[in-house]
Amino acid sequence: MASFPDYNKVLYTPLNEADPEVQNIIEKETWRQWSGLELIASENLTSKAVMEANGSILTNKYSEGLPNARYYGGNEWIDELEQLCRKRALEAFHLDPAKWGVNVQPYSGSTANFATLTALIQPQDRLMGLGLPDGGHLTHGYYTAKKKITASSIYFQSFPYGLDPSTQLIDYTKLTEQARIFKPRLIICGASAYPRDWDYAKLRATADEHGAFLMADIAHTSGLVAAQALANPFEYCDVVTTTTHKTLRGPRAGLIFFRKDLKDAQDLEKRVNEAVFPACQGGPHNNTIAAVSVALKQASSPTWQAYAKQVISNAKTLAQELVNHGYRLQTDGTDNHLILWDLRPTGLTGSKVEKICDLIGITINKNAVSGDKSAQTPGGIRLGTSALTSRNMNEREHAKVAEFLHRVVQLSLKLQKEAGSKLLKDFLRVAEKSDEVKQLRKEVREFARQWPLPGVDTVDIKRPAGIEEDD
Ligand code: PLP
Repeated sequence: MASFPDYNKVLYTPLNEADPEVQNIIEKETWRQWSGLELIASENLTSKAVMEANGSILTNKYSEGLPNARYYGGNEWIDELEQLCRKRALEAFHLDPAKWGVNVQPYSGSTANFATLTALIQPQDRLMGLGLPDGGHLTHGYYTAKKKITASSIYFQSFPYGLDPSTQLIDYTKLTEQARIFKPRLIICGASAYPRDWDYAKLRATADEHGAFLMADIAHTSGLVAAQALANPFEYCDVVTTTTHKTLRGPRAGLIFFRKDLKDAQDLEKRVNEAVFPACQGGPHNNTIAAVSVALKQASSPTWQAYAKQVISNAKTLAQELVNHGYRLQTDGTDNHLILWDLRPTGLTGSKVEKICDLIGITINKNAVSGDKSAQTPGGIRLGTSALTSRNMNEREHAKVAEFLHRVVQLSLKLQKEAGSKLLKDFLRVAEKSDEVKQLRKEVREFARQWPLPGVDTVDIKRPAGIEEDD
């Protein structure tokens, strides 16, 4: 047998031998995910099969272009893969291939959105999206008084619509009035932090008044839309974008669905495909496309609706339990997988609660709530139930999670008093020494470790080097 040159020996060495440092980091992160409670609304825990496909040899291949029209050779199997992924994407969202097409190449939700803007409108054209402080995403045109923050406001003129402060629901009437003045070429709906469903018919009517495109970014809710547990944006929108890693439970990527049956020769298929490549991206990540295909198959399976239903039921339970503990939620509840918890009546900021949660192994994120003055110290937190539902937790466990969160708030109030100041650094100084924080951390760990971690065999999870536990 031919001998291996030294520079190639490494190609066959497993990660734990080739790079123990990276291996150790992966083990520490596995330990953290297993030992904690993941409540970040934009996250989920993907399957073993998705991770296998994502880590496959497909990462080696360049395939700029589209199936059967590539700029590189050797793409016969990649063509088959991309066609399969497209077919599965249409099936998962119950779409007729005569009316809808899909581009499965976007690297992420942000690039899918920017490619969509590139496809639909011209530089400096006008778009309207839900304002970031009201729950919209950065890529929907966000800017501040001092700065144009994202490409969607740097290259386009944007105007945010918002919530009705009395109901905290989208103010569709005001949006329609504002659109009459601003005259957008594109209206974007969809959000990162909105616990209620959308009225797509109203938005379509407003878009039609101005001959504007209507785009839905269902990054957060796509798993629930695929399960037909929420209103159907495809009935009314011209383009629908999504990430694949939130409620859809796939790898990190994006999808762009476009109508193929628009009148007036609006060839959205060509526009979207050319916007993704070559306008915004280079070669597709074929390992990711394989993993997306696997996730889409799962989202079309007979068990998917039950998962989506459980995610929503868990969110409703968590919301109701927090209300029962006396807390205020934005819109008083939820229709989907997420909850916006307004902490202002408690006298705590989202940042403080996020920090204490981090110390005890509950992962959440601080979030602006309607009427917040400062984006730096938002008055709320955002919670989501997709990941814990993927760990088999149901209503009973979500009631327990609400109890943990209630204890976090009680303890935070006590620590805030002990710190003698409202500054986050003083608060953290006392929190890090607190025995009650330690006790809570222990209880959260014991609780979390009773549940499996998708993609990993529990027997294989070992405490990695560098992780000390004080209990
Ligand atoms: N769109 C929405 C509504 C999102 O919430 C997010 C991310 O959280 C994105 C787009 C961006 O996705 P990515 O992080 O994959 O770029």
